[in-house]
Amino acid sequence: MAKETKYIFITGGVLSSLGKGIAAASIATLLKNVGLKVSMLKADPYINVDPGTMSPLEHGEVFVTDDGAETDLDLGHYERFLDESLSQKNNFTTGRVYSAVIEKERRGDYLGKTIQVIPHIVGEIVDRIKKAGEGNDVLIVEIGGTVGDIEGLPFLEAIRALRIEVGKKRAMNIHLTLVPFIKVAGELKTKPTQHSVGELRRIGISPDMIICRSEMPLNRELKDKIASSCGVEKNCVIESSDSASIYQIPLSFLKQDILTPIAENLGLGELKPDMSKWDSLVKRIIAPTNETTIAFVGKYVDLKESYKSLTESIIHAGANLDTRVNLKWIDSEKIEPSNVNELLKDVDGILVAGGFGERGVLGKIQAIKFARENKVPYLGICLGMQLAMIEFARDVLNLEDANSIEFDAKCKNPIIYLIDSFIDVSGKKQIRTHKSPLGGTMRLGAYECDIKANSLLSKIYGGAKKIKERHRHRYEANPKYRAEFEKAGLIVSGESDGLIEAIELKDHPWFVGVQCHPEFTSRLTRPNPTILGFIRASIANHVK
Ligand code: GLN
Repeated sequence: MAKETKYIFITGGVLSSLGKGIAAASIATLLKNVGLKVSMLKADPYINVDPGTMSPLEHGEVFVTDDGAETDLDLGHYERFLDESLSQKNNFTTGRVYSAVIEKERRGDYLGKTIQVIPHIVGEIVDRIKKAGEGNDVLIVEIGGTVGDIEGLPFLEAIRALRIEVGKKRAMNIHLTLVPFIKVAGELKTKPTQHSVGELRRIGISPDMIICRSEMPLNRELKDKIASSCGVEKNCVIESSDSASIYQIPLSFLKQDILTPIAENLGLGELKPDMSKWDSLVKRIIAPTNETTIAFVGKYVDLKESYKSLTESIIHAGANLDTRVNLKWIDSEKIEPSNVNELLKDVDGILVAGGFGERGVLGKIQAIKFARENKVPYLGICLGMQLAMIEFARDVLNLEDANSIEFDAKCKNPIIYLIDSFIDVSGKKQIRTHKSPLGGTMRLGAYECDIKANSLLSKIYGGAKKIKERHRHRYEANPKYRAEFEKAGLIVSGESDGLIEAIELKDHPWFVGVQCHPEFTSRLTRPNPTILGFIRASIANHVK
């Protein structure tokens, strides 16, 4: 018999950016560690069909799933906490919902009916929630945005209706709000929370639990006041005050016995999660034994959210190696031949992150040259691999005009090229699967890669012959130059269907470029091998 999925709906009030995704993922982690099968869904009320075309300035990182969905960055938190791979069905937006409904209407599926927000749009949202929950004991549904947003209304109506449909024992509402500390009064204030709950009630949703984000812990009296003014049980007011690491939050929730009221609401029986491994990793995040410093070279150093998965994956590697990894953020646009030594002389490793567009490329190439010549551990991700090849071509192969056609469409030595120009996609394997309306195509999602035996990459992946990592890029290394590269000491250590997927250098202790984004599959309890290898090499370089 199919599982009767139970739902936990999480809404937010007062402000955005309170960390609803982390709170949702923390609850999911606890439930998973009890032994339940748990999945998560982020329902985003914005109109874009997906965040793929949004600028990092608008949206932070675009997270990519195994099946190639470009999703909200909260999906990254979900995967990192829950240690499950999610997919296209775990994130949808108003844009996607409307597209689907309009497509059905055009096809005539609604048999001439007038198409309306209720029931059609709300019905589509309900169907998508149910689909994401199939096969799971519990589905945690986070509704993006803040209660009171006009565009969020159909989503709230959908969770209201779904709770009525499945019954109270199969669904509960958790509302996350801000309890601000007002300096002049020297007090934490509960009024915004009361207003936010009032707004929810007005549209027919009564929260069963309130999670209070605050700068400081809430005392019992304040919690009781929130309970009585918001109409929830006393043990259903949970605090989430600022903490040193986001990975502490599940432990803090557990300490406050969050699972007892959840179990009571959903009829789940006694819930005792095993968080011992998590607990010991968190201790190593907070107070590790070692320390290392790596240069993080990118063009969005003021917008760290756009590198979320990468910075989190570095925390995972650090925790597993009992090491604090200090990031020295370096704006690639500020790196010049005259200051590169000064900027990089005190770091143990150099990381060049992925990116699109020409801005900052010259600085990244300078940093790569420094890493190659000074034998500093180097990890180049996606654009970081492409630029490592360009740097090598210019400096070692003496191809001065070597470039990517992303930056110079007419360059004579296109080391990085558009795949369509040299890969036969008419045969059995269609490599490009996603068409972008912006005119290009992107290689998205997980692809297998064959690892060269005895390479550094093979060592990093514990001798594996094949790995699978996620991708998000348009351009590829041009195989025309492969022989020349290999003759000069650049090793192609990973390939897939004739594509160059990973490179390393023969005469360098640790220099790795990967076309994939290894950071997308890193989890606290299972760090990604490439990131782990890089941090390990940086630690070894520090000791030297
Ligand atoms: N801009 C490069 C490409 O499209 C690299 C992309 C990336 O780093 N994610 O191929």
